[in-house]
Amino acid sequence: MKTDIQIAQEAQMIPITEVAAPYGISGDDLELYGKYKAKLSDELWEEVKDRPDGKLVLVTAINPTPAGEGKTTTSVGLGQAMAKLNQKAMICLREPSLGPCFGIKGGAAGGGYAQVVPMEDLNLHFTGDFHAITSANNLLAAMLDNHIQQGNALNIDTRQIVWKRCLDMNDRVLRNVVVGLGAKADGYVREDHFVITVASEIMAILCLANDMADLKERLGKIIAAYTVSGEPVTAAQLNAVGAMAALLKDAIKPNLIQTLEHTPALVHGGPFANIAHGCNSVRATKTALKLADIVITEAGFGADLGAEKFFDIKCRKSGLKPDAVVLVATVRALKYNGGVPKQELAKENLDALAKGIVNLEKHIENLQKFGVPVVVTLNAFATDTQAEYEFIRDFCQERGCEFALSEVWAKGGEGGMALAEKVLETLQSKESHYHPLYELDLPLKAKIGTIAREIYGADNVVYAPAASRMLARLEELGFGNLPVCMAKNQYSLSDDASRLGRPTGFDITIREVYVSAGAGFIVALTGNIMTMPGLPKTPAAFGIDVDDSGRITGLF
Ligand code: ADP
Ligand code: MG
Repeated sequence: MKTDIQIAQEAQMIPITEVAAPYGISGDDLELYGKYKAKLSDELWEEVKDRPDGKLVLVTAINPTPAGEGKTTTSVGLGQAMAKLNQKAMICLREPSLGPCFGIKGGAAGGGYAQVVPMEDLNLHFTGDFHAITSANNLLAAMLDNHIQQGNALNIDTRQIVWKRCLDMNDRVLRNVVVGLGAKADGYVREDHFVITVASEIMAILCLANDMADLKERLGKIIAAYTVSGEPVTAAQLNAVGAMAALLKDAIKPNLIQTLEHTPALVHGGPFANIAHGCNSVRATKTALKLADIVITEAGFGADLGAEKFFDIKCRKSGLKPDAVVLVATVRALKYNGGVPKQELAKENLDALAKGIVNLEKHIENLQKFGVPVVVTLNAFATDTQAEYEFIRDFCQERGCEFALSEVWAKGGEGGMALAEKVLETLQSKESHYHPLYELDLPLKAKIGTIAREIYGADNVVYAPAASRMLARLEELGFGNLPVCMAKNQYSLSDDASRLGRPTGFDITIREVYVSAGAGFIVALTGNIMTMPGLPKTPAAFGIDVDDSGRITGLF
């Protein structure tokens, strides 16, 4: 069997200008990064912004196994299939981080015959957006430390600096560092921290900003530290906004590449799906809706995190109105949810499937709470058996839920025709009554409680004393009307990763709370969330190489 990178390298790409042309994007609207990558110009947005929107389809998933269940693969394959059905479709995805590329999970360009290309470029430096975000993040850090060095006019409490430096790399030794060692001229000594670039608030901001004016306003609101008396100190007060925005000037423009079948894909921005909202940029999604009739986009992790934040944060804040949801399930994830260990997922096991399918059931119920029509798709693996497939199909049909098998990984667009037809039928026959889960004017604890009870199925929310105090303080500071971004493990609906399936009789514990004031949400952490991952014992980096002709191998 061919690896993802082999399939990608055998693909015959066409020039990106030719991918763009059928969508009314002229050469003038493209800022080319070589032959196969381009950014969309600001002028293009001005030209198309008053057009009517196409239909918006979200791709999300049940609670996954550690390998991922194929949301990106499904999104790409569905786009390819739509094009085969002569639909004007566009795909919106997140940009991959270097961390997982060299760590365990691998890149994020889809898989098999449903990928976006050039995948090596996308997975490595791409168009430099992550470099820009890293630089903007670290400029603010440098300006903050310099402010203290130069006399600390704002009276920043060096024990209450919340802005962290960042790097797009899995590098655990940077989690906790000491900066400022040396002489007087080398700064004040203090403990500092690094996060991975995708966890930087700048990433979330870039992805939620409508335009440059909005981006600047949001950058200005970033809280970098607190004063000795506990007042927030913002990036605007540190005079950093203009320079940060200048660094992000090109990064806010969406990137255009193509699928293996030349369907256009806007791949732009990639915030974490735990401490941030886990979706590609608003700007890319909005542009795609003006250029295509059907836009397919993905949200990170399972639907309890990704879809909830897509609806309650991204769509609510930007005025997007989703028309349908594709919920990806796999036989292996259902068996995993039924208690089968990772190594045994390839064996037929109908008992485990029957036990684990409650996870799918809960996600269907959850998505219906947002008023958006749901299509369940089974992402087919070679190890699935006919009996397993029929069990899942019957389960969906008995519940009046649309269902289609997807074989896009093995067959590309051709393997996604059944799914594409189901989605088209749903878009035509079922109206979306999209609404967020909770109102913004509720108290913060009521919002967290609603998500915990309605989506996770928890009985109650328990707050650590510090989290309770912080919530009260954030309401005092005027942040009470923001949506909540839940940071939780992705494997369980509960805050305990080992409780799979559809857990009941549990409480959610909120250990820590803070505000991402620029992004515009309150982050509520249910446990220790890793914002600077480490490398495993045998990192993927061991297997990556490039030959004399520049051909990369082993990226997967
Ligand atoms: P997600 O977006 O949900 O994290 P991806 O689409 O990135 O998942 O897929 C994760 C990995 O699983 C990729 O390496 C991909 O090639 C592989 N994969 C996805 N679907 C299939 C399938 N049907 N059969 C085999 N491998 C698959
Ligand atoms: Mg993905």
